[in-house]
Amino acid sequence: MSPLIEIQEIKLASPACDPGSQRWSVFVPVEADLSEVMPYLNAVWKDAQYDHRAKVLIRRSGQHAIAIRPHEVAVSNALDRADAQRLVEELIAEINAVWQRRDEITPQTEMRRRPTAMEVYKQLPRTNCRACGQSSCYNFALHLLAGDVRLTDCAPLTEEARRALAELLGTP
Ligand code: SF4
Repeated sequence: MSPLIEIQEIKLASPACDPGSQRWSVFVPVEADLSEVMPYLNAVWKDAQYDHRAKVLIRRSGQHAIAIRPHEVAVSNALDRADAQRLVEELIAEINAVWQRRDEITPQTEMRRRPTAMEVYKQLPRTNCRACGQSSCYNFALHLLAGDVRLTDCAPLTEEARRALAELLGTP
């Protein structure tokens, strides 16, 4: 079976919100219509925000924001062209793999709401112990939503709270 996306061209641009930045936004024009794969990606990526009507799927992956539109894949925060190439190749391999096994996946078109920092904060120990390196539990919640830290960085977190947060954030 041929892949859904084949990389023809990679475009780098300064982020619109931060012109002159040393980091790059990466854009890959895609010939195929990616709106068909989006409901399958939405089913697999539990932490994605998907708008079926607008045909856009957004996800955070570590330091990077990913946006998929019908004829474009975009990734933020690349260091340089080599980093952009690596990020794009990994992402497109993942999308192609989901497309290849779409017969085994139940597509999902519902929109997922992103939890607020306060909702995340309420599940944390709220002791501001700073063991995670953040100045407060609320700061940790903000960084968790930005993908800069992981649940395992909060050592005092109980297993029950970890499960509740993983459910809220759509992460394993
Ligand atoms: S380690 Fe956990 S409890 Fe301590 S400040 Fe960080 S988030 Fe709060």
